[in-house]
Amino acid sequence: MKEKIKKEVVIIGAGMAGLTAAMYCGRMNLETLVLENAIIGGQIANASGIENYPGFLSVKGSDLISTVQTQAENFGAVIDEFDSIVKVTLKENPKIIETEEKIYLADVVIIASGMNRRKLPLPEEKKFAGRGVHYCELCDGHAYQNKIVAVMGGGNAAVDAANFLTKYAKKLFLIHRSEFRADEISQKKLRENPKVEIFLQTEIKKLFGDKKLESIEIFDKISEETKILQVDGIFVNIGVEPNTELFKDELEVSESGRIIAGENCKTNIEGVFAAGDVREKEIRQLTTAAADGTTAALLTEKYLSKLRGV
Ligand SMILES: Cc1cc2nc3c(=O)[nH]c(=O)nc-3n(C[C@H](O)[C@H](O)[C@H](O)COP(=O)(O)OP(=O)(O)OC[C@H]3O[C@@H](n4cnc5c(N)ncnc54)[C@H](O)[C@@H]3O)c2cc1C
Repeated sequence: MKEKIKKEVVIIGAGMAGLTAAMYCGRMNLETLVLENAIIGGQIANASGIENYPGFLSVKGSDLISTVQTQAENFGAVIDEFDSIVKVTLKENPKIIETEEKIYLADVVIIASGMNRRKLPLPEEKKFAGRGVHYCELCDGHAYQNKIVAVMGGGNAAVDAANFLTKYAKKLFLIHRSEFRADEISQKKLRENPKVEIFLQTEIKKLFGDKKLESIEIFDKISEETKILQVDGIFVNIGVEPNTELFKDELEVSESGRIIAGENCKTNIEGVFAAGDVREKEIRQLTTAAADGTTAALLTEKYLSKLRGV
């Protein structure tokens, strides 16, 4: 029989959103548990130089996140990274979170399980990740002032990323293995930009470089021609996978699989909040993840006070 443990708040995911929520909940003396099934810090844990988080000129992801973790723990939140969730039941009160070892009964659940970006499916990805291979144009685009970049992908996100990167790049290649799926308007904007060259029906086959990415090999599926393009960086935009598998039977999710919740982070179930990249929203950054964590935590406290009639 698994041990049953009561908690006021269970937070799922120890990325920026979850840890910020934990810091606030802890500071409000709420009994708070954070469950993490991979590495503490989430997507940002391995980023090398973050230059757009207020208060820091440049900070390593691991340093930033370990400070937020310490803040959360100093206020009494407990983080468990060794016990995986097998099932959640959110519609009941208390809500039930069953892990491999325990059963938690929680008054509030804050889902901050983030998302995973689909990785460039080539063996060299590991060697060049952060050294020419990037997944976030808002985060890393600035480093490519006056350089040559490629964007991989053909959906709205890829074309928007490409349009954004033309701000910095002196030359941009858009490479996609089939036809565009992006909106006409964004496609038109990209096509009309003289810096841009578009390769459709084209696959990226290999990456080359010593310490940093220097060039890529592409293969045109129609002409069957192979080409080498000199590029300083490639931004991969071939889709994301929100971590909502556990929740999507009970919570409303969008077409892209993200949890539907407004700026107040409230989901369709009372006492269940969604914070950070897992929430359907337009901008996914560290600052917006921290903002969601803050909102979810402060409204958790309000919800609990109401529940207890105080
Ligand atoms: C390479 C890279 C660089 C970036 N650089 C920047 C930057 O410079 N500036 C910026 O503002 N943004 C940057 N971003 C975006 C930023 O990292 C994200 O917007 C932010 O980290 C989202 O935080 P989050 O807490 O919502 O989600 P995540 O960071 O995705 O954290 C979610 C956490 O939940 C855990 N989890 C998932 N499912 C479960 C489960 N079932 N049980 C328990 N735990 C679970 C995950 O393991 C993860 O730790 C970057 C992203 C990437 C990928």
